[in-house]
Amino acid sequence: MSLADALDMRPGEDANVVLRRASVLDPVAGIEGVHDVVVRDGRIAELAAPGEGEAEGAELVEAEGLHAFPAFFDPHVHLRAPGQEHKEDVETGTRAAAAGGYCGILAMANTEPPVSTAADVVALRELARADASVPVGFLATVTREMAGEELTEMVELREAGALGFSDDGLPIASARVMRRALQYQRLCGGTIALHEEDPELSGDGVMHEGPVSAALGLAGIPSVSESTTIARDAALAAYEDARIHVQHLSAAESVEIVRAAKAAGVRISAEASPHHLCLTDEAVRSLDPRRFKMNPPLRSEADRQALIAGLRDGTIECIATDHAPHSSEEKDVPFEQAAMGVTGLETAFAALHTELVLPGAIGLELLVERLAGGAAPFGLDRPTLAPGAEANVALCDLAAEWTVGEDGYESRSQNSWCAGRTLTGRVLMTLAAGRVAFRLRSFSLGVAA
Ligand SMILES: [Zn+2]
Repeated sequence: MSLADALDMRPGEDANVVLRRASVLDPVAGIEGVHDVVVRDGRIAELAAPGEGEAEGAELVEAEGLHAFPAFFDPHVHLRAPGQEHKEDVETGTRAAAAGGYCGILAMANTEPPVSTAADVVALRELARADASVPVGFLATVTREMAGEELTEMVELREAGALGFSDDGLPIASARVMRRALQYQRLCGGTIALHEEDPELSGDGVMHEGPVSAALGLAGIPSVSESTTIARDAALAAYEDARIHVQHLSAAESVEIVRAAKAAGVRISAEASPHHLCLTDEAVRSLDPRRFKMNPPLRSEADRQALIAGLRDGTIECIATDHAPHSSEEKDVPFEQAAMGVTGLETAFAALHTELVLPGAIGLELLVERLAGGAAPFGLDRPTLAPGAEANVALCDLAAEWTVGEDGYESRSQNSWCAGRTLTGRVLMTLAAGRVAFRLRSFSLGVAA
């Protein structure tokens, strides 16, 4: 299903834009070269020869030297509505997404209260139709109030428009409850997205268990807390022939288990987050370690390399930010008490371009492909620049250098893991579901034809 049909957003005008002489790259569609990208009535009308795209009645954007990619899709965002709008809401969160080059996101259900009833889903969808600048899909919780005991009315939630299910923030500790959820999932569809962690193994850990936690005297969360739970759920999904998506992989053992499960034919997909791909637990030694506190935690360099290898070989089909806004009050406390989570929507592309593509760890094609890879696991069309498609385009300047946070954030929160870093590569303009969702203020556009 197209993003405009499947998800909800604010009504707006269909775009008529020509991106003149853009370097177009859509690895999945096999498109690479300099073209005029002609967007008419919100659709990719044509990839014309450079300088020859029909611009009458359209806005002309001089894009020579800039890159046009299929816009990105983030299957893991915390919009914090309802209940924690002091951190984020649908309006600010989708603005942050648009600024990051995203044409669609999925919102997690661990709000206050959690999204557990059909009425909750209906209310959020209405809110998105009033406030969202990019299409949003909503997940509902797997268990009532995320208590991990009784299942929600999954069939009814699907009918109300829940894209899938997740208790993200918390694992589903009981294998019996998990198994029941998978049985229902097979009946009603909707991928189950899993935050994988064994609460007994994690205990009161606050960072990765390893030499750094030992040196700092902090309680650790071992890698096996994640990997053993993924192994359990992959086995249950295989047994019930159900569809699962594993969120924010962090450990080498986890990548290995997902790879083996895929090879065995289990219907499983997986995501990794920019911070796990760019950082290790060494960051917790920094002057302000609270900026690097998240769950799952940053792990070792060997884990980071295993995630990159998983991205390369397709074990991990998508990058998801796990954008988790927190107010400064929740972060300005001692490390042990600081809230878990970092923001990521506005910086994902630039951070990964800077930390992985420029040093040669992965190619630009792979980054572009994986940033848009989060739609398919939830049954949505992958954004593409192929003529005829709904216009979902991220226009980027790969040479632009900028310092994160210098001009503030679109997000209501400031807990970016790359605050203060200078990154190379910037999103200048985003088209989402056929509309202009974002333009960078300092990007002076060409004249109207
Ligand atoms: Zn999570």
